[in-house]
Amino acid sequence: MIDLASTLNEEQLAILKDAALDFALSNGLVVRPPPSTDDATTQQGGVINAPVALFPTPFPVNAFNNAVKIQPLYNQLVHDISQDDAFLKEIMESLSTVDDFVKRLYDLYLEVKKEGIAQPASLGVHRSDYIINLNPGQDFSKAEIKQVELNTISVSFGSLSSLTGDLHRYLQTTTGYFSDKIDISALPNSDSIESIASGLASAHKHYGSKAAKVMMVVQPGERNAFDQRWIEYNLLKKHGVVLIRKTLAEVADQGRLDPKTKALFIGDQEVSVAYYRSAYATTDYPTEKEWDGRLLAEKSLAIKCPTIAYQLVGTKKVQQVLAAPGQLERFVKNPETVRQLRASFTGLYPLDHSPEGLAAYEAALKNSDELVMKPQREGGGNNIYGKDIQESLKTLTAEQRNAYILMDIIRPPITKNVLLRKGQLLRADVVSELGVYGIYLHDGHKVIRNDNGGHLLRTKGVESNEGGVAAGFAVIDSPLLV
Ligand code: ADP
Ligand code: MG
Repeated sequence: MIDLASTLNEEQLAILKDAALDFALSNGLVVRPPPSTDDATTQQGGVINAPVALFPTPFPVNAFNNAVKIQPLYNQLVHDISQDDAFLKEIMESLSTVDDFVKRLYDLYLEVKKEGIAQPASLGVHRSDYIINLNPGQDFSKAEIKQVELNTISVSFGSLSSLTGDLHRYLQTTTGYFSDKIDISALPNSDSIESIASGLASAHKHYGSKAAKVMMVVQPGERNAFDQRWIEYNLLKKHGVVLIRKTLAEVADQGRLDPKTKALFIGDQEVSVAYYRSAYATTDYPTEKEWDGRLLAEKSLAIKCPTIAYQLVGTKKVQQVLAAPGQLERFVKNPETVRQLRASFTGLYPLDHSPEGLAAYEAALKNSDELVMKPQREGGGNNIYGKDIQESLKTLTAEQRNAYILMDIIRPPITKNVLLRKGQLLRADVVSELGVYGIYLHDGHKVIRNDNGGHLLRTKGVESNEGGVAAGFAVIDSPLLV
């Protein structure tokens, strides 16, 4: 295994750190600091470097290529499931009694459907996340991708990921420190800084009104705003389309629908695409006003990214149901495609009243070391691990258990890296999670675009269960293909 960090002395690390910090600040590889920080500069709107790995992390080339190859299959699968009312009904009704948030989303889906869908087109900007599984004694190059989850709403770090790849290529080219054996072509470029803007531009064009603007629905006080700003700037520079930023509350306060066409106006600005970088967490809806804003946008003619149906398809329960025998085959007719997708699944188990659900429950009560228990939530920090699973299972009623799924823990290889957070270096034993972006546009009759949209590598210390960068667990990294 290549270990880039251990060959470098402290002086070389200090040189890399200074170069990395200047690169990050010059290129917008930055985030807002947490609000608690009392540093005067940051209080005046200053920024800090986005948490990054100083070195790229070795990643098996075959696993990487496979993840990229199957992304269009996942894009299509999300769309096909989103069209199956009966499938969604069955799953969402079973969750509705035990999960208020999913119930609210599903009720919204039903309400909009009942009124008649104003906009048949849908835009997907997805990210499928994987950890590579390495069995004991198995060669690193043979490690296979296993899907952690499929994100269909508000996928982040597309821009900062591309910039981190640029950072690593820059550091290698200017210092040669990583190793003279590393060929820069082993550091693949991720075009995610452009692909999301390009997806929004395609949807905007399809909407067909030049004067309209793309609306990014944002969280108030977003710390990761610069990842989002790059989408805005690329949309303007490369596609001539203006993007406005509005919170759900602002959509409720300032929005209205044209009574005839249902076109969405924010003030006097028509909205072509409603692109959500919010609206996925319970905390995004502190009051009824935010739900009003969401409903208004959903009812409108604006193309939604994602549609509420795509959002529902991204739930962990759907992921678990798909892994059950015969379910994937409902949506995917080509056996080779089924094989490719299924090979990326790890073990997934229900916690419902079915015989499988009861068996999984009994098994987890006996041994939960190789499992993770997940509720229907997004954004990191919600999962339950190890012995805590047994504690939780004992306190939940049989019905409440159904709000969760169980999943086999994926065991990745451990590598070494140096993490750069808030200007400080930290040597660490790390594991990584690969994300592959997908861009998909459907006009209601046919596919307009089904593309790859670049990749993301997030790396965290081995001691941390969770992997979110925004949640403070991980750093942004880039793969060194080996
Ligand atoms: P969220 O929607 O909160 O991002 P995830 O399913 O991505 O939920 O889980 C959060 C994190 O927990 C992941 O980034 C990963 O680090 C860890 N994790 C989740 N599932 C597994 C698994 N099956 N094996 C190992 N780690 C996992
Ligand atoms: Mg995740």
